[in-house]
Amino acid sequence: MRLKIAILTVGSELLEGEQADTNTAAIGRILGAHGYRIRESLTVGDVEADIEEALEDLGRRRDAVIVTGGLGPTSDDLTARVAARVFKRRLTLNEEALRQIGEHFQKLGRPMHPRNEKQALLPQKVQVLPNSRGTAPGFYLSHQGKGFFFLPGVPDEMEAMLEASVIPRLRERSGVDFPQQEKVFKIFGLSEPKVEELLESATLPEGVHLAFGVEFPLVLVKLRAQGQEAGSLLAPAEETVRKILGNFLIAVGRDTPEETVARMFHRTGRTLALAESCTGGLVAKRLTDLPGASAFLERAAVTYANSAKRDWLAVPGEVLDKDGAVSRPCALAMARGIRRAAGTDLGLSITGIAGPEGGTPEKPVGTVFIALASETEEKVQGYRFPGDREKVRLLAATMALEWLRRYLGALPPAEPE
Ligand code: ATP
Ligand code: MG
Repeated sequence: MRLKIAILTVGSELLEGEQADTNTAAIGRILGAHGYRIRESLTVGDVEADIEEALEDLGRRRDAVIVTGGLGPTSDDLTARVAARVFKRRLTLNEEALRQIGEHFQKLGRPMHPRNEKQALLPQKVQVLPNSRGTAPGFYLSHQGKGFFFLPGVPDEMEAMLEASVIPRLRERSGVDFPQQEKVFKIFGLSEPKVEELLESATLPEGVHLAFGVEFPLVLVKLRAQGQEAGSLLAPAEETVRKILGNFLIAVGRDTPEETVARMFHRTGRTLALAESCTGGLVAKRLTDLPGASAFLERAAVTYANSAKRDWLAVPGEVLDKDGAVSRPCALAMARGIRRAAGTDLGLSITGIAGPEGGTPEKPVGTVFIALASETEEKVQGYRFPGDREKVRLLAATMALEWLRRYLGALPPAEPE
């Protein structure tokens, strides 16, 4: 049986724009991974009448309702009281809940504030849902064949309780659990329509669904399958996608482009030095966000002014005067210069105009040159990236990572715009 599941998030802060409702997204994601689809979601403020109406409405239409928020010890936390009224049960001090709250404080080695006792005031005949990460336990109650889950609003507490207490009860109600498996491919250098067009001719095994998404500047291709056979359906589908998009596949699954590149550096043992201008160290930042980057990244210089390019990278004054800092010769000299200074296998440089000012008719905003120097070869390429300053910088940094990925993977170089 397919359960009709609804979400109710409670909190005035969610409606006033103070706090984004991430709980709905997290519930959708976590339940989705277990094969449950959410049919509807609703948000109300900390207003008794509104919570009441929402519970009645959703209870009428759906088989299960997951409520988050409003279980705390403060006076604006009303959910348990409203639930008692809606489901016509008395609000009483729940011994089990009180014991769990007491245990939580004992573990923290802190005395319990008398107000926390309020969190044990629950409607009668509920199952208490333990909260392994916080004070407020949740509760589950069944009313006229419908299941209601009440969880705290704090995202990480709520998420842990979904896995520990909600999923097993849903499974009990629906009988089966069809875990959904998903494989995500991250594409760089092809637009979303282009990716869709390329995949149109592909025949995927029956039961495999294809979805697209964008995580700028990457295009995501998602393969999904459900049921016991999911794994064996996804494997050949994955092979098909890899065959078609292979060279543009910058990362897979939860990986980022920088993780892909870092792994390749670790595997090949090559070393790198960076000279960045318009990206201001963004490539270095992304690579050094990952632990262990020192194994391959020797140095990274942010060389913004001409003087920096001359002093630190030995870019010839003639190049700077004649061709300018944003030019093929300058990018090449930067890559060569940082590599020579660092004594690394590779030197990579980025120089360009991120905007909003500084563009000219010949070199408009978005003009970026990337160069790569190794012992045996030197390459440079000009790009014209679209968008505002932030987008240009992000595109340039990602393209630089793509250059490294393609170089280390012995793939053909990234295509120009
Ligand atoms: P507590 O015991 O912390 O009081 P609670 O069940 O009363 O838990 P709330 O007071 O409603 O929960 O919210 C606790 C915290 O969780 C707040 O910081 C709130 O902004 C955040 N929060 C509540 N609901 C959501 C939501 N839907 N998405 C993201 N954060 C949320
Ligand atoms: Mg609240």
